[in-house]
Amino acid sequence: MATTRTTERVDVVLVGGGIMSATLGALLNELMPDLSIRVFERLEGIAVESSEVMNNAGTGHAANCELNYTPQKADGTIDIAKALAINESFEVSLQLWSHLVETGGLPEPRSFLNPVPHLSFVWGDANVGFLRARHALLSAHPMFADMRITEDAGRMVDWMPLVMQDRKPGPPLACTRVDRGTDIDFGVLARLLFAGLQARGNLTLKMRHHVKALHRDPEGGWRVIAKDRETGDIQEVRAGFVFLGAGGGALPLLLKSRIPESRGYAGFPVSGQWLVCQNPEIIARHQAKVYGKASVGAPPMSVPHLDTRIWNGKRSLLFGPYAGFTTKYLKQGSYWDLPKSLRISNIGPMLAVARDNWNLTRYLIGQVVQSPEERLGALQEYMPSARKDDWRLEVAGQRVQVIKRDPERGGKLGFGTEVVTAADGSLAALLGASPGASTAADTMIDLIRKCFPERAETEAFKSTLRKMIPSHGHVLAREPAVLGAVRARTNHVLGLVE
Ligand SMILES: Cc1cc2nc3c(=O)[nH]c(=O)nc-3n(C[C@H](O)[C@H](O)[C@H](O)COP(=O)(O)OP(=O)(O)OC[C@H]3O[C@@H](n4cnc5c(N)ncnc54)[C@H](O)[C@@H]3O)c2cc1C
Repeated sequence: MATTRTTERVDVVLVGGGIMSATLGALLNELMPDLSIRVFERLEGIAVESSEVMNNAGTGHAANCELNYTPQKADGTIDIAKALAINESFEVSLQLWSHLVETGGLPEPRSFLNPVPHLSFVWGDANVGFLRARHALLSAHPMFADMRITEDAGRMVDWMPLVMQDRKPGPPLACTRVDRGTDIDFGVLARLLFAGLQARGNLTLKMRHHVKALHRDPEGGWRVIAKDRETGDIQEVRAGFVFLGAGGGALPLLLKSRIPESRGYAGFPVSGQWLVCQNPEIIARHQAKVYGKASVGAPPMSVPHLDTRIWNGKRSLLFGPYAGFTTKYLKQGSYWDLPKSLRISNIGPMLAVARDNWNLTRYLIGQVVQSPEERLGALQEYMPSARKDDWRLEVAGQRVQVIKRDPERGGKLGFGTEVVTAADGSLAALLGASPGASTAADTMIDLIRKCFPERAETEAFKSTLRKMIPSHGHVLAREPAVLGAVRARTNHVLGLVE
């Protein structure tokens, strides 16, 4: 079939229709409404990869319950710096959503965000000691002042009845609780953000368009080549700025851009599965996100949790994630994704990571060969009364952990979210996983300030940013009065539990 080639010019191209592109689009539209934006999404639907509700855990990561954000150092002390930073970033997301709800850019918040308490639950002397010490440090800080702890089984029955039902007497238990936790449907949120942007007319969305290549434009910016997967037609768009928000597809495109900053980057895909509860009576008896401690060797995002989810106004309950390995970078990707991303510049870092991460390899092999009974056993550690017939196994989204060069070890594996930008600010790519969607607003504001430095210095930009994100320019972790004012607003607009 003959293919037609068309060429157009826009200011900004966003590759990928997930929560990251949606958040960046929303921010650009508020801060620089004169920019024309084109989005290319390779699939039929918006946000149906990692951002889709059941492909992620939907936890509004604020470091309330995720024990991996407060690591214990070799000397036994607990480092809370990461927890403070993540909590601060999440407050930026809450402020952006509040602003959009107030100004009509988003509808009423219950469609995408619901209050769900965040709990951490551990057993055994060492873990109980860790949770006590973590609680003492965090609750002494204004950001986590309302975190409660209990070692009383009766109190735990009130907080998480399913976790306590049929639990045999055994090692000591401890649990912390933050009521101001959230469950977020990032899929719905992305669709609402895109719908608002399309209605305002500054953004055009090209569905079923797969971005195949991108080349430097001799006249400045980039030439982005996208293929219509239905007709085979090729569309070339010239853009001053390109964002690779393609989830697992961002790394291959970053490598194709050949910017010097991309050298040495590689990806390590980790797939996931959930057990999803099918019994409405059980679902109704749990109202919390209960996070535990990760097993030895497990990547930080594989912390087990028994998790209330709310989508389309309906409650559900899932447990996991169980990790796995595949060579695909996207759930609807190709087994050739990993082999095709190999370059001379990234083979060294990949081999170094393979050499240094035997615990992770062992953990993943253990997860892949797990039997249904072993999976049920893992669930029963959190819910002793669980029965196999009430749960169904479902495939979660795909994560691609960042591998990059390291001067000492040759290569290292990162578990966070990382933005790679071209030196001239004309291209940025978002790689990695956690805390991901929850901190998208903060990450995208940094990206905009880096890639549009002149616009970011204008008074119009600064005052709009302050209006949207009143905490901008402040450090919430050190300014309790500002923290209080910011939370009073977001609690009111988003209906969060104080
Ligand atoms: C198991 C799991 C649990 C998670 N739990 C949480 C959590 O509790 N809280 C949290 O905040 N985050 C969580 N995350 C992370 C979160 O899901 C991601 O950070 C977020 O969804 C990433 O959004 P994105 O827009 O970058 O990617 P995606 O939602 O994957 O969107 C990328 C889009 O790009 C498209 N695309 C790819 N390649 C191309 C191409 N070449 N051309 C055109 N389009 C392309 C894809 O089709 C896709 O629609 C979890 C992730 C997983 C996998």
